Amino acid sequence: MIYLKSAIQLLFISSMFVDLIFITSSGMQKVTAITNTTTITMNVTSGKNQSGGATAVSNNTEVTNAPLAKKLNVVTSVSPITNIVKNVGGDKIVLTGLVPEGVNSHTFELVPSDVVKVNDADLVVIDGLGLESDVEKLVDETYNTKPNLQILKLGDNTITPDQYIFDFSFPKEAGDPNPHLWLNVAYATKFANLTRDKLMEVDLANADYYRENTDRYITKLKQLDEGIMQAVQSVPEQNRKLLTYHDSWAYFAPRYGMVVIGAVQPSDFGQPTPRDVANLISQIKAENVPAIFGSEVFPTEIIDQIAKEANVKIVSTLSDDDLPGDAGDPQNSYVGMMLENMRNMIVPLGGNVSALSNVTPEDTSVSS
Ligand SMILES: [Zn+2]
Repeated sequence: MIYLKSAIQLLFISSMFVDLIFITSSGMQKVTAITNTTTITMNVTSGKNQSGGATAVSNNTEVTNAPLAKKLNVVTSVSPITNIVKNVGGDKIVLTGLVPEGVNSHTFELVPSDVVKVNDADLVVIDGLGLESDVEKLVDETYNTKPNLQILKLGDNTITPDQYIFDFSFPKEAGDPNPHLWLNVAYATKFANLTRDKLMEVDLANADYYRENTDRYITKLKQLDEGIMQAVQSVPEQNRKLLTYHDSWAYFAPRYGMVVIGAVQPSDFGQPTPRDVANLISQIKAENVPAIFGSEVFPTEIIDQIAKEANVKIVSTLSDDDLPGDAGDPQNSYVGMMLENMRNMIVPLGGNVSALSNVTPEDTSVSS
């Protein structure tokens, strides 16, 4: 931590320059419509056309939509969010994800090179809801030398406090709700819309590009969302239950008609107590679920022990922030992660994923 602090100070001394003009969104009214499959957000602009080519006028400042001197530097946190931002921003942004693949995003610690990345950023896009509190702290400190740095907290702008879900791993007493919004594809769609709105705001010259990329991406997300709905329907009703090691599926379950019956991992991300384990074993037996689910990012013998004692199948490959494949592979995407998750979840519970066979995992942004 001391190391991190001195790195911040050093960077403050080197003093960053500002190369961006920001447009206030005060002339914009946000209209959100929620349908049963997707959340659609659109900006209704009164007065001048945002993408028309002339000048956008905000409250006190007059700014033009002249191209930026260089590409927007966008820093993100976990891989699914990085990938959603990539699908919206395409090749008009320089994108850097802070949390490496396969690293536990909940206890992830910043290193000095991350301080440099945030200092170089024009925009930081995170989930929020307490997931990346260290990144938020760093952004707060960076404001001192870079007051134009922007932060977009997707989760905080997607749900309101009355929609927060608290549970075993994210108890209300600890303060922060379960942060795994993106496993609900309607929320991921909102993430894409919020990202589009922010990129259009700070880089008006490329507004059409961001809008078209987002439209294309949302078409795919809609297919994914509908496919998951149908795939879950193929699971016998009494099996639509999730018991997972890592508590990622809180917002997924209510959207798709499943129930989270429990999570093994305590709120401190340590090991559950023998009493917790015994309770889970009796719960699995009572609920009669055919499979329970572990996670590659949190290898533990406890889940194997629970599965053995409750005599159920264990699937250890569910993922909430680790994208499948390697960088450059088509499946190394948020959609690819969800498709793999559905294969690993739906089939062991007795359903099938044929409704998802037409959904392909590759990114949809195009080269400009
Ligand atoms: Zn997680």
